[in-house]
Order: sequence, then C-alpha cells, then structure tokens
Amino acid sequence: MPELPEVETIARGLANAVAGKTVAAVAVRLPKVAVGPAGAPFEPGLIGQTLVRVGRRGKWVVIELASGSRLAVHLRMTGQLVVQASGTTEPHPYTNVLLTFTDGTRLCFADVRQFGRMRLLAAGDPWDADGGIEPLSEGFTSDAFVSMLVGRRTPIKTFLLDQTRIAGIGNIYACEALWEAGIRPSRPSHTLSRPARRRLHGAVRNVLQRAIEARGTSVDDYVDAEGLRGGFQNQLAVYGRLGEPCPRCGKPIVRTVIGQRGTWWCRGCQK
Ligand SMILES: [Zn+2]
Repeated sequence: MPELPEVETIARGLANAVAGKTVAAVAVRLPKVAVGPAGAPFEPGLIGQTLVRVGRRGKWVVIELASGSRLAVHLRMTGQLVVQASGTTEPHPYTNVLLTFTDGTRLCFADVRQFGRMRLLAAGDPWDADGGIEPLSEGFTSDAFVSMLVGRRTPIKTFLLDQTRIAGIGNIYACEALWEAGIRPSRPSHTLSRPARRRLHGAVRNVLQRAIEARGTSVDDYVDAEGLRGGFQNQLAVYGRLGEPCPRCGKPIVRTVIGQRGTWWCRGCQK
C-alpha cells in the first residue's frame, strides 16, 4: 500500500501534469469507488472544474478545485493515478474513473482490486483524512512526539501505524524507522525512554525524507503518476528481508506479527 513517500511522489508528479487543467468529461465505470459530497452525485461537481493544486494529506492525494471543493483519492492496495496524453485511445487497464480534460489529456484512476476511493468534498467540508499530525510538518517536534507516547500501552509499531495519531506511516516505514532507532517493535509505547523517543522521532523523519528523495518504495504495484517505479526498495534495512543479515550487526532479520501485520526487525540490535 502506498505510504506517505509514495503518495507525496504521486502528488508532486500529478501537480506537474494536471494542475491548471479543466475537466471536460467524467466517466465512472465502477460507481462504488466514486463518492459524491453528502449524497450528491459525483460527476456534476467535477465537470467544468479547473484543478488548482495537487497535494497530500496522510496517505490521500488531495486535488483542490477552483470551486473550493476537493477531490481526495486513496489508493489503498493497488490504486494508480495515471495521466494519459491527448489522443490515447484506450484508458489504462482497470480504470474505474476516467477524467478527460479540455485539452484532450486524461487522468485514469485505475485499480485492480477496487479498494481505492475517490471522494469529492464540497467547499468548506472539514474532512481532514484521519486527523493525525503530518510527521514532516513543523508541528511534529521531538517534544510533541515524546508527549504523544505518555500513557500509551500499545506496541510502539502499532502506535506509529495509527493514522489518527500520525498521518501517512504504514508498515514499511514503521519497520524501517524502528530499526534505525534501534527499538524493538513490540515495546509498549510508554516504556520508551526519553532518548529512545527522540531517536525514533528523528528516525521517522529521516526515513520518510530519504524515501521521498528516492521517489518511494516499489515492493509491489506502486508506480508514480508518470508510471515510474520508486527506488527506496534498494535502501530497505529490514522490511521484507527475512533471514538476511542486519546491515548494522549482522544477525539475521526476523519476521513476527504485531497487530496482525508482518513485522521485520533485528533481535541483535533492536531493544
Ligand atoms: Zn541488527
């Protein structure tokens, strides 16, 4: 599933490709994936609208429209946003929603497994994804993170995945940040020392930033808006590396299950 770095990469690519374009036509091929504002139909709110800005909130791509409404897209497991040049005859395979712009270019929302969603939000709708703080924002300070863990008994890895606390971290970057900080993923959050919390805060930001620079991690179907794979899979220390030597201490990476999610870590250097 695309996490913060992948969604950020997609959003930046889309911003280059579609900002300023105006929607001429909307074709919804699978109604369940396109949700209109509060009971209103999806298509009419989009036709004639100019895409002003493309950004990201948590794991959502958020496209701002000239009317003040927003189109929020969650890719879930296999969703892709693919821009097609004018004159392309066939939409991208598994396209569920197709936007055609006035210049003839198109945006395909394609999704093999159909879990992804497009939500059109009316102007003024207070929707804010799941509400967690953005881990690369100025507000996510080391002190703020230290305080967030007070009294939290959930395993630290599960805490990192909670989108109502911190937005955008998924399984890959939770595993990698905990490895970088030298922290065992199953540790109850409140038992982390203050220095360990500060290390983890730094590791979360560092891992996410490095992954954005590498244009995300492609361990599955992930491609960006230009159809390109990311590069961070070549820098992963633990995720998906069962049995391989830990880059820091050489002990074999293990896989356990925490909160029903596969978790890769090193018994040698994560305490
Ligand atoms: Zn190790």
